[in-house]
Amino acid sequence: MTEETIFTKIINGTIPSKTIYHDDEVTAFLDINPKAQHHILIVTNKPIPSVAQVEKEDEKTLGHLFIVAKKIAEDLGVGESGYRLIVNVGKDGCQEVPHLHMHLLAGGNLGGFGFPEKK
Ligand code: 5GP
Repeated sequence: MTEETIFTKIINGTIPSKTIYHDDEVTAFLDINPKAQHHILIVTNKPIPSVAQVEKEDEKTLGHLFIVAKKIAEDLGVGESGYRLIVNVGKDGCQEVPHLHMHLLAGGNLGGFGFPEKK
C-alpha cells in the first residue's frame, strides 16, 4: 500500500493547513514556507507521487489543476497582472513532497527564472 503523504493528511484534515479550495479532484492550501507574497499549493487528491507517475486516466485531473490555478489567481486579483506556476519533479527537480502538486506564486514581479550553472 502507498504510504500516506503529508499532503494526504492535509487533504483529510488530519493535520492543519490554511485550505483555500477543495473539490472532488484537487485541494489548495497556503505553503507553510512561502517563497512569495502569495504561495499556494494545488494538490491532486489522488496521491500520485509525481508527474513521472501520471497515467492516461489522470488527464482530466491534471487539466483541472490549471483551471483551479486560474480561478485562485483571479480570486487573488493577479489574473491579469500575472503569476508563476511550478511543478517540481523528482530528485533533480528538488521535489520535496512525493505527492503531485503545483506551486502558484504571485505578488509583484517575480523576476527572471534562473537556470542551474553548467557542470
Ligand atoms: P516541492 O519541493 O515538493 O515541490 O514542494 C513542497 C512544498 O511543500 C514546499 O514549498 C514546502 O514549504 C511545502 N510544505 C512541506 N510541508 C508542508 C506542510 O506540512 N504544510 C504546508 N502547508 N506546506 C508544506
